[in-house]
Amino acid sequence: MDCIFCRIAAGEIPCSKVYETDEVLAFRDLNPQAPIHVLIIPKRHIASLQALTAADDELLGKLFLAAREIAKQLGVDETGYRIVSNVGEAAGQSVKHLHLHFISGKTLKWDN
Ligand code: 5GP
Ligand code: ZN
Repeated sequence: MDCIFCRIAAGEIPCSKVYETDEVLAFRDLNPQAPIHVLIIPKRHIASLQALTAADDELLGKLFLAAREIAKQLGVDETGYRIVSNVGEAAGQSVKHLHLHFISGKTLKWDN
């Protein structure tokens, strides 16, 4: 499959890794929108949140628990951060492999 995040998960494309378990990988976004911009992905290919099934409930929990660990690791667990997942065209999803954007390191506005 020609999926850039599958290739990153497989180690075929380098990334700046911040967190990894057997099922989850997190790495710095190439084009950061804030001082801290990390992408949290399942290693297994899932197209988006909309492609999840009930069988993925544990995996989904692990993605959010990864965010919690990353917040502690990067020292923003007290100051705060934002989790965003773009789903489909209207949201501007450009990579069709589920990812949570972890954004922090500045005061975030809410102006979508
Ligand atoms: P989306 O627009 O799908 O919600 O987010 C995709 C994100 O992936 C973008 O913020 C983009 O900068 C990032 N991205 C795309 N290709 C790569 C890559 O090869 N490496 C990394 N680290 N980030 C990427
Ligand atoms: Zn993929």
